[in-house]
Amino acid sequence: MKVAIVGYGMAGARIARELGRRGTEVTVFGAEPSTAYNRILLSSMIAGKQSEDEIALPTPPDHVELRLGSPVESIDLEAKTVDGIAFDKLVLATGAEAFVPPIPGLDPLPTGAYVLRTIEDARQILAEAANRASAIVLGGGLLGLEAARGLAGRGMDVTVVHAGTHLMERQLDPDGAGVLAATYAELGVESVTDAQTTRVIHGDDGLTLVLADGRTVTGQLLVVSCGIRPDTSLAAAAGLEVGRGVVIDDQCRTSHPDVFAVGDCAEHRGIPYGLVGPAWEQADVVADLLSGVNEDAAYTGSRLVTRLKAAGIDLAAMGRIEGDEVVSFADPVRGTYARLVIDENGKLAGAVMLGDNPMVGQVVQLFDTGDPVPHDRRTLLMGRPGESVSVAPETPASMPEEAVVCRCNNVTKKELTDAFRGGARTPQALSDATQASTGCGTCVEDVAGVCKWLGETVSGLGEAAALLNEVTT
Ligand SMILES: Cc1cc2nc3c(=O)[nH]c(=O)nc-3n(C[C@H](O)[C@H](O)[C@H](O)COP(=O)(O)OP(=O)(O)OC[C@H]3O[C@@H](n4cnc5c(N)ncnc54)[C@H](O)[C@@H]3O)c2cc1C
Repeated sequence: MKVAIVGYGMAGARIARELGRRGTEVTVFGAEPSTAYNRILLSSMIAGKQSEDEIALPTPPDHVELRLGSPVESIDLEAKTVDGIAFDKLVLATGAEAFVPPIPGLDPLPTGAYVLRTIEDARQILAEAANRASAIVLGGGLLGLEAARGLAGRGMDVTVVHAGTHLMERQLDPDGAGVLAATYAELGVESVTDAQTTRVIHGDDGLTLVLADGRTVTGQLLVVSCGIRPDTSLAAAAGLEVGRGVVIDDQCRTSHPDVFAVGDCAEHRGIPYGLVGPAWEQADVVADLLSGVNEDAAYTGSRLVTRLKAAGIDLAAMGRIEGDEVVSFADPVRGTYARLVIDENGKLAGAVMLGDNPMVGQVVQLFDTGDPVPHDRRTLLMGRPGESVSVAPETPASMPEEAVVCRCNNVTKKELTDAFRGGARTPQALSDATQASTGCGTCVEDVAGVCKWLGETVSGLGEAAALLNEVTT
């Protein structure tokens, strides 16, 4: 069977590698000239924490044909060809594009203004930042805030200009966003919210954003971070069903039975996720189906936990912002905020955990498992016991076996334990065996913690058992 994959990003590279490993004939078409890289870590590249080499993704086996450097222009579904090359099954993994709002002065992007989606964008931002002292980030969502922190870490004065009433309004309530803004201010990033940009002027002193209320914000570098739009143009031109993304079912199949779509370009049950966890899960489903490894493989949706990857800031946000019962705790001076949203059945419907909080693991567990929230809400919020200590911070020992340690790759504690028992005795070996911590990297310490604990328990038990065996035989 011949498989064609259009798009050599995080999802396309995953499928190419898996199918290649299983001996399937694969041709990959990629618009970007470079080998595939971990797009998530472009934020770390901007922050100067990782180099291009360090963010490269593993390459597929040699027999996988890579056709990189130019975009596919046409798909003929009747003839079953991509740019004239025949396929039996086709996978669309065309990702998404950065959205540039229709603001006068932004189309085309003026000199000194960039989006951040590709490695080439990151290179250009870094080259520009090297000679500049100030930057504006247009958009105070997750990616905008990560870019802002990275640029501030380089010593630049950074202003985030955000149209919403508060930062990250899709994930945070106003109080939580207020604490986040204060934390950012301490790190050299000012934020201007409720800011409708009416035009962008390119002048001698850089770029000036003129806001609807008359305010202006000037900086020498501008990063536009106003969300993404799934790249569906090829699918639409081929006549496939397209909503906000390419519409797929639970087998990641599009409206054509031989065409699949995965990742940022796809819309599953009405949701275009735009995150790597769902993209990789969908990629694994398609690899299993096309290689015949699991004909029942299915993707049924994801529960999302958003984590900010910014030096000096710990933020995890999940689920709903409002609900039947809301308990919260704020300590703006120390940059700490916690909020639990509990539904009418006493289950965790959403949470915000900002700042160093030992209960993050427990809260994420409750969100994942749907177990009832303990009566002692205070401990869960702050990690400090109330009248009765019914919950304690999570440790590798207390984590249930099914606890998800790496969300990008959906790796559980049990899978890490099995890999450890199978001989993977270091965090790197565990990562190689399970792919844990190869995504956004926020679980690196958790994987190391589980590895250390396994070293103290599993191998200890193994040695004890061996000793016992020796003594008794
Ligand atoms: C700076 C940054 C930080 C991020 N941080 C996080 C994070 O912390 N957590 C998280 O979950 N997600 C994060 N994301 C999102 C994550 O990167 C995406 O969800 C992921 O890359 C989706 O993978 P994909 O393969 O679907 O799309 P992509 O990785 O975008 O790959 C799509 C590829 O298809 C190519 N392509 C498009 N059209 C064609 C064509 N016609 N012919 C050939 N090739 C084509 C594109 O050039 C691209 O290389 C971040 C993204 C960015 C930019």
